[in-house]
Amino acid sequence: MYVYLNGKIVPAKEAVVSVFDHGFLYGDGIYETMRGYNGVLFKLDEHLRRLHRSASLIGLTIPMDISHLKISIYETLIANSLRNAYVRLTISRGRGSVGLDPDLCPSPTVVIFTQEFKEYPSAFYRNGISLIIAETKRNLKEAINPQIKSLNFLNNILAKIEAKKKGAYEAIMLNVHGKIAEGTISNVFFYRDKVLCTPSTDCGLLDGITRGMVIELAGREDLKVKEGKFTKKDIYSAEEVFITNTTMEVMPVSKIDEQRYPVGNISKLLRKIYRQEVEACITNTKAEGPSIWGEKG
Ligand code: PMP
Repeated sequence: MYVYLNGKIVPAKEAVVSVFDHGFLYGDGIYETMRGYNGVLFKLDEHLRRLHRSASLIGLTIPMDISHLKISIYETLIANSLRNAYVRLTISRGRGSVGLDPDLCPSPTVVIFTQEFKEYPSAFYRNGISLIIAETKRNLKEAINPQIKSLNFLNNILAKIEAKKKGAYEAIMLNVHGKIAEGTISNVFFYRDKVLCTPSTDCGLLDGITRGMVIELAGREDLKVKEGKFTKKDIYSAEEVFITNTTMEVMPVSKIDEQRYPVGNISKLLRKIYRQEVEACITNTKAEGPSIWGEKG
């Protein structure tokens, strides 16, 4: 396995970051997770745009431009001969002496690692997964803006620990006002009374790229979509629930706490058209010209 580290692609065991890196010391940094399908990175521009937003929200200057980042990601995939891949791009504040001041770090650390994409078990999609509503509340957006995709994940990890203790796969986090925010690594949707509902960004959540796409696809199917403020009670009384993220795509939910849900037609439809969108993106990207893989079409 090869890893991109600060401008070089090196064997994984040489990809080492300093113990004085502020990403390690303070969680000071940002990241993106992307998915490669058959050699094409899906929604790459959107992920890199969000990376830049995260960087600007923490006052970090990314030491390379977007096209250089893109090339580096593809070069890392090629070095690992990967087509269906999990891709993680991490940029930390970099190495510096002890102290919170970002100016202690002269240059950010940039890491790209890729792995063969490990599919979720097909039973998850067939039967749905089990969730809980966590006691741990989502960070107050006025304290740490969840739109910063930061290396600081303890808030979500605490909720994930709660889920694991209860034998659930994912936890839904409420905000401090008792409104649904998001999952620990996902956005939440539910269908009720012919309306597809999802928490609005002012509930304090990361505006997932998959979430954005699902809203767009639902609109194309003439489904009514409501972004708003929802409570536990609203989701308990839903007819269908699913969660979304880059790696899971559209994942049906069969249970939240003691409440059960079928894997319904809306979840199935959105999953299907999401997949069609992925296939179309692969075809179009390849049709744009010789791909980075040196193939035609
Ligand atoms: N919320 C959180 C907290 C996440 O970590 C993720 C995964 N990046 C998401 C939502 C979903 O975002 P996306 O659809 O862009 O993967």
